[in-house]
Amino acid sequence: MSKLIYLDNAATTAVHPEVVAEMLPYFTEFYGNPSSIYSFAGKSRQAVDASRKIIAGALGCSEKEIYFTAGGSESDNWAIKSIAESYRSKGNHIITSKIEHHAVLHTCEYLAKNGYEVTYLDVDGDGRVRPEDVEASIRPETILITIMFANNEIGTIEPIREIGRIAKEHNVLFHTDAVQAVGQVPIDVKEYNIDMLSASSHKLKGPKGIGFLYVRNGIKLTSFIHGGGQERKKRAGTENVPGIAGFGKAMEIALETMEVRAEYETELRDHLIERVLAEIPHTKLNGHRTDRLPNNANFSFEFVEGESVLIMLDMQGICGSSGSACTSGSLDPSHVLLAIGLPHEKAHGSLRLTLSDETTREDIDTTVDALKVLIERLRNMSPLYEDFIKNNSK
Ligand SMILES: *Cc1c(COP(=O)(O)O)cnc(C)c1O
Repeated sequence: MSKLIYLDNAATTAVHPEVVAEMLPYFTEFYGNPSSIYSFAGKSRQAVDASRKIIAGALGCSEKEIYFTAGGSESDNWAIKSIAESYRSKGNHIITSKIEHHAVLHTCEYLAKNGYEVTYLDVDGDGRVRPEDVEASIRPETILITIMFANNEIGTIEPIREIGRIAKEHNVLFHTDAVQAVGQVPIDVKEYNIDMLSASSHKLKGPKGIGFLYVRNGIKLTSFIHGGGQERKKRAGTENVPGIAGFGKAMEIALETMEVRAEYETELRDHLIERVLAEIPHTKLNGHRTDRLPNNANFSFEFVEGESVLIMLDMQGICGSSGSACTSGSLDPSHVLLAIGLPHEKAHGSLRLTLSDETTREDIDTTVDALKVLIERLRNMSPLYEDFIKNNSK
């Protein structure tokens, strides 16, 4: 088989070789438990401290505001459930959007079954939450606004600064799922008035199974895992030292390379978008044209099934996604594509391609060439397409 063309970096990324090198000694050489007293364990403790320092520096917060978790889903669950519990006496209302990741949506649905009220905001055709809608839905009993930084399916970047300002003015806590944005776009939690932020290492060339939750100092946070005193008694369990060390390194590399990478990926992404829209008829770009993640392109092809496109791309060694990895295997169209107003049939015919700085122009051209041929082939098998052609040639 020819070289694999991996265009599913929003699902997960390859671990950077320098990250692997950073992690290895904590499996083999410095395997001590960071909580142990002897100096050998100090090496593990130092690794955890160093990583926390890098991450706090990246977000513009204090090291004491970073809690390591097992990933983005855990961070989202913890943030939302914790606020719901701690601020129950103030109110029971939560504001979120219809396009959140399931880690947020399903947590809100769980709370809604347990006495909380949740407002799911609509988004515009580009997938953007309107800040005025956020403001209009705030009630006296609102305790939390949770809106994602950037969407994992369509790449749209949300107006986080405006939402942060509104939350602050109304004295409501603001959490953002920034799993897709951290390491891709600059984030300063103080400047944006973000009270809590979720991130995950494997979306930025770090290992899987490690993430963090930033929690602004002064917020009442309940323990997510009860047990030992790790993570300032809030998240018990022996630290994932190799994972934490790897995450720190991945963050360091992401920060150093952010500008150059964003420029490179944006140019390739735009080349991909321009070619697909120009060369494949009856195609639409989903998500905002410019306010989007540098590495994300999401298309809807009329008269085809996204799953069929994926399977045919896979036969040529090209990895993409329809909807998100979490929903693949389900036949429901993506909730995000429905929320931006796509009818069911168009939502079914969508394809997400997400690049990395290792993606080449040749990879993109090979992919577009393949898409042109296979979409035409699929359309020629589609009765809907046949009807469409007939009706238009009359
Ligand atoms: C991947 C992702 C998550 C889940 O993170 P995990 O570390 O895989 O649990 C949550 N939110 C968004 C936006 C994501 O892209």
